[in-house]
Amino acid sequence: STQVRLAQRPVGEPDDATYRFETTELPALADGQLLLRVVYLSLDPYMRGRMSDAPSYAAPVAVGDVLEGATVCVVEESRHPDWAVGDAALSYSGWQSHAISDGTGLRRLDPAKAPISTAVGVLGMPGFTAYAGLLQIGRPQPGETVVVAAATGPVGSAVGQIAQVQGARSVGIAGGEAKRQALLDEFGFDVALDHRSPDFADELAAAVPDGIDVYFENVGGPVAREVFKHVNLYARVPVCGLVADYNRTSAPEGPDRLPGFMGLVLRKSLTVRGFIQNEFTAAHGRDFVRDMSQWVAEGKVRYREDVVEGLENAPEAFRGLLSGRNFGKLLIKVSED
Ligand code: NDP
Repeated sequence: STQVRLAQRPVGEPDDATYRFETTELPALADGQLLLRVVYLSLDPYMRGRMSDAPSYAAPVAVGDVLEGATVCVVEESRHPDWAVGDAALSYSGWQSHAISDGTGLRRLDPAKAPISTAVGVLGMPGFTAYAGLLQIGRPQPGETVVVAAATGPVGSAVGQIAQVQGARSVGIAGGEAKRQALLDEFGFDVALDHRSPDFADELAAAVPDGIDVYFENVGGPVAREVFKHVNLYARVPVCGLVADYNRTSAPEGPDRLPGFMGLVLRKSLTVRGFIQNEFTAAHGRDFVRDMSQWVAEGKVRYREDVVEGLENAPEAFRGLLSGRNFGKLLIKVSED
């Protein structure tokens, strides 16, 4: 098995010294065990938090350990009564090519129902993040305006499309003209903006003539600063992620903006509510599977995948994820399915 371990905690952007590749011989299976071959490793922004020992909602990966991550696997060998060779499974086996499991925490996948890669994308954790955060906290009403950035990614693209299913108007923000076009052509956003455009502030103002009722916060940074200028009375702000800040090593320049922001929260009676998706799993996980599978089947929610071949390319692909070089749900293809 080839494994990618955390060699040292990164400062700022993770570089090659962050990672250590190792190849080990796996032991023979014991009774009740199975051997998983990883087909797809999901790369997600939260992994930057696990590399660091700064305060977080989850414990960091220990230095020397295999990096964490969700994977889509195929059973290669089995001495487990419930699993046969060739079965597909969602696992949390991390950045490695193979893993031995006793079946704990595995979820069986049916390739006849949906491509297995969607289990870590639109029909998996990122899709659920969009669904739960938007519907439980954002609560978009027909005719309202919903704004989301990182809008071609798995979370943002689902947010914009689910908003439209609810009858709301969706405004997507992404980096670069190709992504902006995809928001319109592939995902059907009502309006699409490029946050790197020199006229972004004016373009945003023109895109939200009736103000913003829901800002689904994925990015923070300069985008959020502009968006908050247009929030309406009683706007809802599900705080999902702040990817613009994940590699940050010091506080931003300039004056303290907290008093101004809190004043806005007060004056506009905003609901600003952070969440980690798994808080909603027990109450809304089943509804998600039902609704999202249906919306995907009906073409109401489309998804895009960015597949990078080879575990050896995961470090570079992960750097790209935090800086916008991915275009869709980022997957590492570790082996053939
Ligand atoms: P994406 O595939 O959307 O990747 C992140 C994207 O963020 C990049 O592609 C880039 O897109 C954008 N980005 C990076 N830096 C900036 C910046 N400075 N300003 C604006 N945009 C930037 O990732 P996901 O869809 O997987 O995740 C989206 C967000 O959701 C992240 O913040 C993530 O941490 C969060 N999340 C939270 C969960 C929770 O439970 N709270 C669960 C899952 C995800 P572009 O090129 O368009 O700028």
